[in-house]
Formats: sequence, C-alpha cells, structure tokens
Amino acid sequence: VCAFQPDATVSDACASYQDLDTLNTRIHPYVRSLCTQTDFFSYYRLNLFHKVCPFWSDENGMCGNIACAVNTIDNEEDIPSVWRAEELSRLEGPKAQHPGKKQQKERPERPLMGELGENVDESCVVEYDDECDERDYCVPEDESATSKGDYVSLLDNPERFTGYSGEGTHQVWKAIYQENCFSKQTAESEAKSSGNPIAPFGGLTGSQGQAAQDLKSVMKEHGRQQAMQTGGMEDKLEFEDTCLEKRVFYRVVSGLHASISTHLCYDYLNQTTGQWGPNLECYKWRLHKYPERISNLYFNFALVSRAVSKLKDYVQDYTFCTGDPVEDRRTKQMIIQLAEQLPAGSEIFDESVMFQDNYPEQTGITLKEDFRNRFRNVSRIMDCVGCDKCRLWGKLQTNGFGTALKVLFEFGDNDVSKPKPTLRRTELVALINLLDKISSAIKAVKDFREMIASEQGLN
Ligand code: FAD
Repeated sequence: VCAFQPDATVSDACASYQDLDTLNTRIHPYVRSLCTQTDFFSYYRLNLFHKVCPFWSDENGMCGNIACAVNTIDNEEDIPSVWRAEELSRLEGPKAQHPGKKQQKERPERPLMGELGENVDESCVVEYDDECDERDYCVPEDESATSKGDYVSLLDNPERFTGYSGEGTHQVWKAIYQENCFSKQTAESEAKSSGNPIAPFGGLTGSQGQAAQDLKSVMKEHGRQQAMQTGGMEDKLEFEDTCLEKRVFYRVVSGLHASISTHLCYDYLNQTTGQWGPNLECYKWRLHKYPERISNLYFNFALVSRAVSKLKDYVQDYTFCTGDPVEDRRTKQMIIQLAEQLPAGSEIFDESVMFQDNYPEQTGITLKEDFRNRFRNVSRIMDCVGCDKCRLWGKLQTNGFGTALKVLFEFGDNDVSKPKPTLRRTELVALINLLDKISSAIKAVKDFREMIASEQGLN
C-alpha cells in the first residue's frame, strides 16, 4: 500500500480500492476478534440519557421504535468486577488520582505506577470529569463512579436498521456538516486567493463556546427549510476552493455517514417477513449511486488504520484492567497483533501534510485548534440524535474519530521529546470499535457489489 495523501481520492493510482480491500481482508479477523472476544473492547460506558441537546429542543425528533432502544446493563454482576461502582469508588481518591492538568503540565510524562496506588496502573483509574484535555478532539465520556454513565454491551446492541428517519435525522446531519465552516480567517484568505466567495455556510470563529453559539445562529439563519433541499451536501461543498483540512473534515463526516448507511442497509429489517438481512435496494440508493460516499468510507479506513498502527508501542505499556490478568495479557497480545498487520510509518495515510502554515492569515496551530473545536462540536451534536441506539453508536464513533485524530496529530512517531497523551479506556474502546465498524462496512460494500454483479449476470 503506498502513501494515501489526505487529499487523494481512493481511485488515485496510489491508494486503490484494491490495496485497501486487501488490507481490510487481512485485518478484519483481528479487529473482529478484539471487539467480540474481549471484555475490554465489548463494554462501553457513556452518558447516553442524561445529556440534553445543547442546540435545539425537538421532541418530535425522538424515535419510539423498539429497534431504537438500547439495553443498558442494570445488573452489575454482568460487567467485569473492576468496573463495578464499588470498585470504581475504591479506585478514586487522592492516591489514585488521574494527573490533573496542572500536574500534566509540570511533569508531562506518564506518572509512575506507585503514585496511583498499589497495583493500579493509570489506565485503570477512572476519569473524574467531563473536562477536556486541551489535546482532546472530543467531549470525553466519564467513567467515574459518580458520573451518570451507563455500561452498555456493544455486542448486545449492534448498529443496524432502527427506523429512525425524517426531519429530525436531517436536522442532525445538516448540523454536523455545517461544522465544516472553518474560521473566518481561513475562509476569507481562501476566498481572496481563489477569487470566490467565502466558505459554503459563511465564516465562523474558532473558540469552543463561540463555535456552539455560532452553530445555533447558523441553524437559525438557514433553518430547517433549507435542509438537504438540493439532495446531497456533496453538492454544496466545492472542493476546489476549500483548504485541505476542511476537505479532510468533510470526508471524515461523509465517510461516517456512509458507514452508518451501510450498516443499516446490511442489517435491515424486512417488515413483511420480520427477517433481518441485507437490503440491496437500500444500498443502491444510499451508496452505490454515490461513489464519492464510498470513497470517503475508504478514506476513513486509511485514516483510522494509520492511527491504530501508531498504537503499537503505546499499548505495550498499557494495562488492560479487566481484573483478569490472563484475559488482560491476551487482550494486549491481540491488539499488538492487529497493529502489526497494519503498515508502519505513513505508508497508508500521511497526516504530516496537515496543519502546516499554508495560509497567510492563519497558522497551522490555530487551524488545528479550530479543527479540534469543530470536532468537539460534532460530538456535542450527537446528544441531539433522537434514537438511543443511533446515539450510542454515533457517540462511540465520534469518540473513536476524536481519539484517532488525537493519536495522529498529538503522538509523534518516534519523537521522545513529544510526550504521548494518555488515552482513556473509553477512547481506546471507541477507536478499536470504530475500526471494526469501518472494516465491517467495507466488507459489506464488497458483498453488495457482488450481489449487484450477480444480478447483472456477471458472476
Ligand atoms: P440521510 O441518511 O438522513 O441523509 C440526509 C442527506 O444527506 C441525504 O439526502 C444526502 O443528501 C446526504 N447524504 C447522505 N449520505 C451522505 C454521505 N455519505 N455523504 C454526504 N452526504 C450524504 N438509522 C438507522 O436505521 N440505524 C442507525 O444506527 C442510525 N444511526 C444514525 C446515527 C446518526 C448520528 C444519525 C444522525 C442518524 C442515524 N440514523 C440511523 C438515521 C439514518 O442515518 C438516516 O438519517 C435515516 O435513515 C434517513 O435517511 P435518508 O434517506 O433520509 O437520508
């Protein structure tokens, strides 16, 4: 597999669908096993029900279908003992404290095990609050005993067709795509250099709070009536005029959307027979007609695979604290094996070209900050999804992308002078499950293509 530049299309000779399909065939069994055979990667804790949508209130957007419901784990016996409330409160307290921002700044390297209490490694220590580390691309999920989170078995709640649809879904997707309005400065400098009007939905400023405020006004300004009027958001973004980072942002979102569409078409409920299975027509009108959406799915595969390949050394020191040392060793071995299947270095995706000082009025650093803030806003928008199961997978996958971006842009390759940020358990679980979702979607697309070929008598 040769270098996949962030602005390449999958059909470019360098990163062909075939290369990525071959890689996917190789890694799929590894990532599937991690997500289905280990406790660490099959339980996720998140605040699914207690966060309100910060952008609008829309009771009509709620999904009442049974398929939208999530089975949370109400009986603590069903989760590994180390994550039970009693254990979590035991881990909390001054000795087990996660290093605060101040401590991290003063002594940025990973803390010594002894400081966390006996036999308690950093990765086993629960997080205290929803506060972001400045290097986070996502609003973190809080695993502490006092948080309002619920444990969910990801295996018991597969991402599939739920029937969640209509105006409410379009409002959420539109809000997510609108996060692509990068800062005024970038938009204006692009406009100057290209001679074209500024970014598709107008320029926004960069700070986090401001971004949320801006989103509200953008929503108001454009209103629902404009939602998806012309068919695809693809039509509204003219890539020739946009900066690389903005294109990457768009492709990540569109690729996520394509992955969700693929899963819902592949595991679809035939309402006449009551059977679950692939729905070829659904695939045709949501994906097959739009090769760019499929290209963006492959783009995400390259991006997330690169992030996971960068974890190889990091996980060597990571403690997979499920309370069962044999299982923990096995989990570690499995994730190392997965990372080893992926090309090392930037062969699959080259993130180093992003956030360079390419624009006269904005530095790479401020552009990155803007990108990060926009991504955090996408994670907040997920609280507006009116179907519990869709919200679960939407939040998990956004967290997965946030983690991938953090690993890509904040973990130096072999740069010891750049300390690696710590990954929360929820981040690692989200990242690996995200790769599993993308990898499974690519496999499903391949199956759908074969169905089309056999329909056309080509097989
Ligand atoms: P939508 O998928 O809602 O798309 C709206 C418009 O966006 C389209 O008309 C098109 O113009 C554009 N568009 C579509 N795909 C892309 C793309 N890949 N790139 C760029 N533009 C695109 N439903 C389920 O059944 N199961 C789920 O698990 C699920 N999870 C969801 C998670 C989230 C975060 C959200 C917001 C929705 C989820 N849904 C889920 C609903 C699902 O995504 C659709 O919104 C719903 O099926 C209605 O589909 P639609 O045909 O109206 O088009």
